[in-house]
Amino acid sequence: MSKEKSPSQQLQDKLTFTGKHAASKLSAAEMETIFAFNEGYKTFLDNSKTEGCCVETVIEMASSLGYTEFVPGKKYAPGAKVYVRNRGAAIMLSTIGTRPLEDGLRIVASHIDSPRLDLKPNPLYEEAEIAYLKTHYYGGVRKYQWPTIPLALHGVVFKENGEMVRVNIGEDENDPLFYITDLLPHLGKDQNKKTLSEAFTGECMNLIAGSLPEQDDDIKEKTKFTVLKLLHEKYGITEADFHTADIKAVPAYKARDIGLDRGLVASYGHDDRVCAYTSLIAEFGATSPEYTTVTVLADKEEVGSAGNTGLASNYFAYFVEELAEAAGAKARRVLAASKALSADVNAAYDPAFSSAFEKRNSCFVHHGVGVAKYVGSGGKGGTVDASAAYMSFVRTMLDGAGVKWQVGELGKVDQGGGGTVAKFLAQYDMDIVDIGVPVLSMHAPYEVVSKIDVYMAFRAFEAFYK
Ligand code: MN
Ligand code: MN
Repeated sequence: MSKEKSPSQQLQDKLTFTGKHAASKLSAAEMETIFAFNEGYKTFLDNSKTEGCCVETVIEMASSLGYTEFVPGKKYAPGAKVYVRNRGAAIMLSTIGTRPLEDGLRIVASHIDSPRLDLKPNPLYEEAEIAYLKTHYYGGVRKYQWPTIPLALHGVVFKENGEMVRVNIGEDENDPLFYITDLLPHLGKDQNKKTLSEAFTGECMNLIAGSLPEQDDDIKEKTKFTVLKLLHEKYGITEADFHTADIKAVPAYKARDIGLDRGLVASYGHDDRVCAYTSLIAEFGATSPEYTTVTVLADKEEVGSAGNTGLASNYFAYFVEELAEAAGAKARRVLAASKALSADVNAAYDPAFSSAFEKRNSCFVHHGVGVAKYVGSGGKGGTVDASAAYMSFVRTMLDGAGVKWQVGELGKVDQGGGGTVAKFLAQYDMDIVDIGVPVLSMHAPYEVVSKIDVYMAFRAFEAFYK
């Protein structure tokens, strides 16, 4: 017989927040749904290694579900589904709602670029009969993590005649890979004395591209010539065409389950394709939403959102202007009445590096989607600090839909910090808060997330678009 709780115990239960542990409260049927959802996510990850691949994948999925390319000036009826593609690197999807546009939009904005190594404009050289491709890292990369891992190349090259060629080498099992070397420990005496950030420099990030010298004594730089010949055979390109190319080296790993219970997924690019995919599936499922949805999959977040495909550009607002004009509404009213979620990953509490976190205000794997009232650095610098009123709106929405969620900061105070796209939408006078999936080893070539948290992010966005 269980002893009845005393009046003070009952009061303590009522007054104390003890956290909600997601994994322990999910049924076997729910876990099955969660695992099935993540199989779709893993396929998406493997097909979306760069923002360019991601946009292609998204258009293919959206088109099969009846989305059509948005036509400016056209009036769309409630339930209509459109997309706007920004070059090859960003995309917005929208489902027209039943309410008037001036009641505001429901916006979920994530990003589809991830840290990687971009080829330099003059990448190819030869040293000691090995041909290399020089890279310039993109985003917050811990450089020491990139040597000695399998790398693939993705991108586009424009030939002299203006013709575009797609490059894709290393994802197929039969493809060759690219590789950055590291020093053997036997000779690491000097390197071992350096700090983590100094031991491996940006100019060491050179990919091995070939090793067989041309068998002709009259040829100089014989191995470089071998590589140029093979590139010309495969793609019809020359060395000068690297000047008119966007080629990216990314980890050639496929998404895989981690742990005997398969509760986690490891992949390149969870940041931020995990929020892109989950918001996309929520967008697809919104058949007759009250408020018009806009699912933004932006580029360039990892380098500060600058450039015409990043959210510091006005392409999002221009789209809203077009929508508003067609509906006879004022764009600034539509924007100011909108509610938005800045969907980006957060740091998951890592017991191996516990001193970087403040445990009472961290996100934990399996505890659900994480809501970050603020991010920023050095005293909330650069953050959008969501208001208590908007946090209350989010709380009611998530609890009402039975979504497992948690609140958390990005690490302990003054340990570092980071920013998201939230500030670029907040400038339109709308309410916005950061929300997303906690990640272990964020920005590493192979990052880890919890399947439960991935699914709960989807459920959060689904509730938001209801
Ligand atoms: Mn991110
Ligand atoms: Mn990031």
